[in-house]
Amino acid sequence: MPPILLAVDKTYPKGLMWFRRDLRVDDNAALYHALRKCRQVVCVFVFDRAILDPLPRVDRRVEFIRESLVELDAELQALGSGLLVRHAVAQDEIAELAHALEVQAVFANRDDEPEAIARDAQVFGALANAGIAFHAYKDQAIFERDEVLTQTGQPYTVFTPYKRAWLAKVDDFYLKPYPVRGHADALGPVPEKFHAPVPTLANLGFEKSNLAELDIPTGSQGGAALFDDFLQRIERYRAVRDFPAVRGPSYLSVHLRFGTVSIRQLAGAAHRLAQRGDEGAATWLGELIWRDFYFQILAHRPHVASKDGSHSFRPEYDKIQWHHGKHADLLFEAWCKGETGYPLVDAAMAQINQSGYMHNRLRMVVASFLCKDLGLDWRRGERYFAQHLNDFELSSNNGGWQWASSSGCDAQPYFRIFNPVTQSQRFDPEGKFIRRYLPQLAKLSDAVIHAPWTASPVELQAAGVILGENYPNPIVDHAEARERTLQRYAVVRK
Ligand code: FAD
Repeated sequence: MPPILLAVDKTYPKGLMWFRRDLRVDDNAALYHALRKCRQVVCVFVFDRAILDPLPRVDRRVEFIRESLVELDAELQALGSGLLVRHAVAQDEIAELAHALEVQAVFANRDDEPEAIARDAQVFGALANAGIAFHAYKDQAIFERDEVLTQTGQPYTVFTPYKRAWLAKVDDFYLKPYPVRGHADALGPVPEKFHAPVPTLANLGFEKSNLAELDIPTGSQGGAALFDDFLQRIERYRAVRDFPAVRGPSYLSVHLRFGTVSIRQLAGAAHRLAQRGDEGAATWLGELIWRDFYFQILAHRPHVASKDGSHSFRPEYDKIQWHHGKHADLLFEAWCKGETGYPLVDAAMAQINQSGYMHNRLRMVVASFLCKDLGLDWRRGERYFAQHLNDFELSSNNGGWQWASSSGCDAQPYFRIFNPVTQSQRFDPEGKFIRRYLPQLAKLSDAVIHAPWTASPVELQAAGVILGENYPNPIVDHAEARERTLQRYAVVRK
């Protein structure tokens, strides 16, 4: 019997697919819908000057995006199309391009960060004035906005019941990939007058970072390779994920940030394995659910990370008087540089400074140290992470910092204060991670490497450690800092 040809409703002769944080062809919701609805689709990415211009001239993320676009362009070319790349203010450029290309509709995947919402509202308005449609789709989350609510129709503010409801709702419908390639014949070429290679970093006004030396794989091929590697280890995830010296986590966060992997593919694989009893996969799926959880918190409570600064999820926590002034600035500088005298904190800060990545356990330790040992406003740390993390995600970063400072939804209680030495003894017992990032401490024994000031003068001398010279003395006493913090947080109790 001949195949039955289903008529596809082609609403528009020509459409524009606007890639943003979804830099892949496969399983891309907006691209799929654009190809279904248009006879011909042109693809564009805009290096948005509104985001890029304020950045320092060396930024691994810009390089990650640029390298991923080279791959995306090649992939689209292999499908008879290509990627039109602009360096402009996206808010103005998209409507101008849509007009110049004579398209009837623009397609994009939704982004619920407050500034992205404002940008998209402007674009929507400009397109509407020109009689061009704007269609946006869910792509970066399994469930977004109002999709998982309490029985009374309220957004969840506590993770465990949210996770339960998320797991009860998820099924193949939400996890199945969009079959983009089956509709790729609608991909149109980039018109001759717009032809140009993907701009180099220099064209964009940036210098090379150490991304290539770090061997961080870019593009959807890089994301797929990392995921394949992780699937071999996923079973052990629960057991090893808290130990920074071990290759425990997936390292996929930067790919999730820029959409070089599909959340449906990742969550789908984890869900199938979890249903077959794989505990590592179940725990990892839980981490992906945290990501959705924080997305929906930001969507419902945008004040937590608005343009004029972040605010505590629980307003009473904004009454806390943080340490400020010259001494506070010195403490902050020591934290940033990894010179606090607490080896695990300093090694973690060396990791982020050298690579743009920090292990999850260490993000919790250094965040707690900043606000509960140094008494500094968590927003200072939040900003530092935003500037330095390759995987910087407004919602998760804000959620993580508010969790550590106890001001967030479902945060740890304010009186739970991580001890940076016992955390170190527990999660880096042999000091392997510390030795990797602080070679000057490498010769100290496992017993004292977590707190070098407890070593005897003979031990220090034998290990070549001179406190105050090649490694700092602790900048605060943890026990005293703990008392000060409990007093500082008393305002919340009142
Ligand atoms: P895996 O352990 O392999 O986890 C897989 C994925 O699950 C991650 O890529 C991430 O997308 C998601 N995930 C894991 N843990 C969390 C979590 N606690 N909250 C939300 N999503 C999670 N994550 C970011 O992606 N961007 C950030 O800017 C960010 N800032 C953080 C700041 C602080 C203070 C804290 C405590 C956590 C932060 N996290 C952030 C969450 C977490 O630390 C990272 O997602 C994780 O370390 C990334 O490494 P991975 O991909 O190897 O993680």
